[in-house]
Amino acid sequence: MNIIILGPQGSGKGTQATNLKERLNLVHIASGDVLRAARASDTELGREVRRYYDAGELVPDAITVRLIIEAIRRTSGSESILLDGFPRTVAQAEALERALMDANEGVDAVIELQAPLETVKARLAGRRICRVCGAVYNVNTKPPRAPGACDLDGGELYQREDDRPEAIERRLAIWARENEQLLAFYACKGIVTTVDADRSPVEVTDDIVAVIEGRGLPVAKR
Ligand code: AMP
Repeated sequence: MNIIILGPQGSGKGTQATNLKERLNLVHIASGDVLRAARASDTELGREVRRYYDAGELVPDAITVRLIIEAIRRTSGSESILLDGFPRTVAQAEALERALMDANEGVDAVIELQAPLETVKARLAGRRICRVCGAVYNVNTKPPRAPGACDLDGGELYQREDDRPEAIERRLAIWARENEQLLAFYACKGIVTTVDADRSPVEVTDDIVAVIEGRGLPVAKR
């Protein structure tokens, strides 16, 4: 089963993906993580990704599609996949469709996380990430026990370049522009469910699990 989780940056896609991984037997592919790994490499590709990523712009479709399809192909083929942050444009959605069709598959469910703009801006501005393990905190809603240090390993917490105010505004504006068309692309296939993401993470996860269960994916017992 192939599931897409959509929503603006800060709507909680990453948190939900982590929760869903525990409840469902699936592989989580986050385009942001895939692109951050590419960005870190000292290659032509790394430099190209860095140019767009650091400006809060979308990385060109040709690069993004290639890297994500490679990541999908690296999975075993028998696992369900949760795509987070991809597709972001209709061109990416069409490329995904073609790649899945080659394996006689398709997108089975699209979960749209909806939250007020003010909520997502506040979440993004407060987000801090551990340099060592990647754990995510929020200085307002989920602060670490000691300021600036990860609860799990004491690693330094940092703010992503693209979580700074100017980049946040740019990313959200791009998201609003692309999202409408993307939702329309999937809505006419009848596979989109909108979930209210302005609630506690557990409540949101419960709703998503119910949707996915309703579409036939086995759910692990808690
Ligand atoms: P995220 O972690 O999903 O907020 O993504 C961080 C950055 O990675 C974005 O601001 C873009 O520069 C890039 N990115 C992530 N997903 C995509 C995508 N599907 N298409 C193009 N660029 C992307």
